Amino acid sequence: MNILLLGSPGAGKGTQAKRLEERYGMVQLSTGDMLRAERAAGTSLGKQAQAIMDAGKLVSDDIMIAMIKGRIEQLGGKGFILDGFPRTVPQAEALDQMLAENKITLDAVIELTVDEEALIDRIGGRFSCKGCGASYHDRHNRPKQESVCDVCGSHDFVRRPDDNAETVKARLEAYRKQTTPILPYYKAKGVLRSVDGMAPIDTVTQQIETILKKAKG
Ligand code: AMP
Repeated sequence: MNILLLGSPGAGKGTQAKRLEERYGMVQLSTGDMLRAERAAGTSLGKQAQAIMDAGKLVSDDIMIAMIKGRIEQLGGKGFILDGFPRTVPQAEALDQMLAENKITLDAVIELTVDEEALIDRIGGRFSCKGCGASYHDRHNRPKQESVCDVCGSHDFVRRPDDNAETVKARLEAYRKQTTPILPYYKAKGVLRSVDGMAPIDTVTQQIETILKKAKG
């Protein structure tokens, strides 16, 4: 299955994508993770993206489209979960073209809806495993055993530099202005489904699984 997860920063896309990856062997395609890897590796793209990401703005469509194109072409028939792409209408149009060229169809586009006021708290407390990327939260989702990742057992955790209140405000604004216009795009195609992203993590996963079962027919 190939699915697209939409939703504002902090809506839970990464958390849910990781679960689907573990349970169904789908590949998570997170453009945010790809950019963070470029930064960590010190590539010229990573350096270029750094200031933009730290300001909570969007990296240019051309860069993002080229980045995801390579990954889609490498999938070799594996199912995927797109997380963080597309974020603009031109990205959504380019994605359609890439999928058509590779004879891939999207089975579902799922929007995780969240209450904006809760997002700053959610994002402010989040951290993830340095080893496998599993996500956690200081109050809502701590590892079962203190300081040990539930998934891979690592003791190393990281917090994102753009998860501070000021940058989060800019990221939410970018979402409102540049990303929400893609919702009508997918609604018009009849593939858009909404899930309440404020529900507990397990409930959100169950609702996504129900949508996927229906999409499978
Ligand atoms: P994320 O991990 O999805 O929250 O992305 C972190 C940051 O990476 C965003 O705030 C943007 O600066 C950049 N980014 C990730 N995906 C995209 C995209 N599809 N288009 C533009 N910028 C992106």
